[in-house]
Parts: sequence; C-alpha cells; structure tokens
Amino acid sequence: MLAKKNIREFNLPELKEYFESVGDKKFRAIQTYEWLWKKNARSFDEMSNLSLELRQKLAQEFDLVALRVDASQHSSDGTLKSRFKTHDGHMIEGVLIPTEKRNTACVSSQIGCSLSCKFCATGLMDRKRNLGFDEIYDQVALLNEESNRVYGHNLTNIVYMGMGEPLLNYKNVLRSIERITASDSMNMSPKRITVSTAGVAKMIKQLGDDQVRFNLALSLHAATDEKRNRIMAINETNNIQALIEALNYFYDKTKNDITLEYVLLQGENDSLEDAAELVKVYRKIPTHLVNVIEYNAVAGIDFVKTGEDQTEIFTKYLADHKVNVRVRRSRGKDIDAACGQLANKG
Ligand code: SAH
Repeated sequence: MLAKKNIREFNLPELKEYFESVGDKKFRAIQTYEWLWKKNARSFDEMSNLSLELRQKLAQEFDLVALRVDASQHSSDGTLKSRFKTHDGHMIEGVLIPTEKRNTACVSSQIGCSLSCKFCATGLMDRKRNLGFDEIYDQVALLNEESNRVYGHNLTNIVYMGMGEPLLNYKNVLRSIERITASDSMNMSPKRITVSTAGVAKMIKQLGDDQVRFNLALSLHAATDEKRNRIMAINETNNIQALIEALNYFYDKTKNDITLEYVLLQGENDSLEDAAELVKVYRKIPTHLVNVIEYNAVAGIDFVKTGEDQTEIFTKYLADHKVNVRVRRSRGKDIDAACGQLANKG
C-alpha cells in the first residue's frame, strides 16, 4: 500500500482543485500536469519551473510512482528488450521492435498471467497483480525515449502483446490508452494501437459498448473447441462461438480492425484440416487479416515450431481460400524477447 496519494491518479481539474485548496495558483497545476504527462518527469525534483518549496510540498503530499528501467538487452536484429522494475519490486518486460517502416512497442498489462496457455512462457508464471495505468503508460514512455535515443524518432505503433491478459485488467488498459492518445500527453493515434486478447468474450463486447478506437487482435491458435481447449484453457469458458459473436458485436459498434493470430505448433494445429477449420471461422468474423506466427521455443515447454515447408503449405491453403494471410517472422529470439518468451529469467 502506498502511504501517500499517487499524483498521477489526479486529472487536471482535480489537480487545479488541490492547488487552490492549498493556496497556490491554478497554473501551477497546469505546469505540474505537463511535467507528469508531457515531459514524463519521474521525480518532483525534475520539475524545475516550480519553486523548491512547492516541489517539497508536493513530495510530502504525493507519491510519483514511476517504473524504472532495470536492464536492457539488444538483439542482433535490432529488437530491444527492457526489464522494468515496479515500485514494489516486481519485474516486467517490454520490447521495442524496429522494422523499416515502424517502431513498435510491445507492452505488458499484468505481472505474470492468470491464464495458462500451454505454449506460452508467461503462462508458466502466476499472476502477481495487475499493472496500474501509469505503469503501462510508463513502459510506452520509456520505450519511446529509447526509440528516440537509438533510432532518432518516436514510436509509431503500440501492441499490448507483452506479459498478461489485457482484458483482465480492463480499466487500467483503457486508461493507459487514454493517456497515450491524449493531446495533453503522447498524442498517438488509437489506430496505431492494438490490444491482443486470448479471448474474453464479455470484455470484447464491453470494448464495443465503450466505443473504443483502437484495434483488436484475437489469439485464436486453433479453430475447433476441442483443439483450442487443449492449448488454451480459457476456451472452456469462452468458446469459439462465443468469441465469434463477441467480435461481431465489437465490429458492429466500432468498425475497428480485428486481426486473428495463429501460432503454428508442429503436429498440433498445422494440418490442412486445421487450415480448413480456420477458413470456416475466418468467414464468420469481420476480420481483415490472419497473422500466422512462428512459434518461439520456450524452456520447459514441449511444443515445437512448424517447419518452413508445412508453414508454406498451410498458408497457401489459406490464401487459396481467400483468406488474407501474413506470416509473422519472430524477432528478438536470441534475447528471449519474442512473443510468449517474456518471463523474467533475470
Ligand atoms: N494475453 C494476450 C496477449 C499476450 S501474448 C493474448 O493472449 O493475446 C501475445 C501473443 O503471443 C499471443 O497471440 C500469444 O498467444 C502469442 N504467444 C504466446 N507464446 C508464444 C510463443 N512461445 N511463440 C509465439 N507466440 C506466442
């Protein structure tokens, strides 16, 4: 428990109210808010246009709990993994993935994960707690700083595909995106943000009701309930039919992009029969794309990635059946920064 109030829980009108209540000028609230959300200050000391006295008063009254970079690793392909430390000593990971046209940040939404997808490294960990909206925001801000330092420009895209299930930390995820997209903060377009879910039907519908403006990715990975139950336990309570209905609802309400993700596991979900089932599901979902993902090996997990030839056969079948399909090569494998490998090995 934090003893003091987290200053970033306060919106601008609330901060103005506070400054007035202690006899300070309202514009000090604006300055402070800028330090928090435009300049990403990580301590009150940095707020150099506030008097020393005011900075001390703020530090007495509030906490500024910021994520810190604990360690960074560079992959030979340019991918950069950062390990972040939370104020209460937990470690989480975020990844910066540069390509020719994009600089994408992949961020975590929870410490660990409560789902135990059989192929995923994070799934081997327990869920410790949800991340606060400010902790999710900090990963983006810190990776953005890194992007500027190394590549000379801002992030272009953000994916919620790190550790955890974003839709089981719904409020904080939405609030972090509000900050990332706010004109008084990072001002990114929501069209450049994708939230990836293992499939929580009720919360997918909630996204529709909340008229969100970012994109959604569903980790499908198997196109029959029998197979999906085997690798993703969440399917037992959120089956494929429920997900189809939820995604149609989401699309009707928002018209935002939906992507299906399908990681190829050798001998598990990569046969032509599996492809045929995937085509059937694809046709029932208002999706524009299937991302076929190369599986990344995880220590202690027996799944093996599908070979090149079978990947080609599988994706050709999809393309021949009018599925818009793209193969996603994995990045950052040499530093365990690839999808499903984030687990803080230290
Ligand atoms: N919980 C969310 C987001 C985190 S995982 C979700 O399930 O979508 C991001 C993506 O990586 C998901 O599609 C997930 O299934 C996939 N993934 C997990 N482990 C993987 C691995 N070892 N190799 C490749 N992709 C993996």
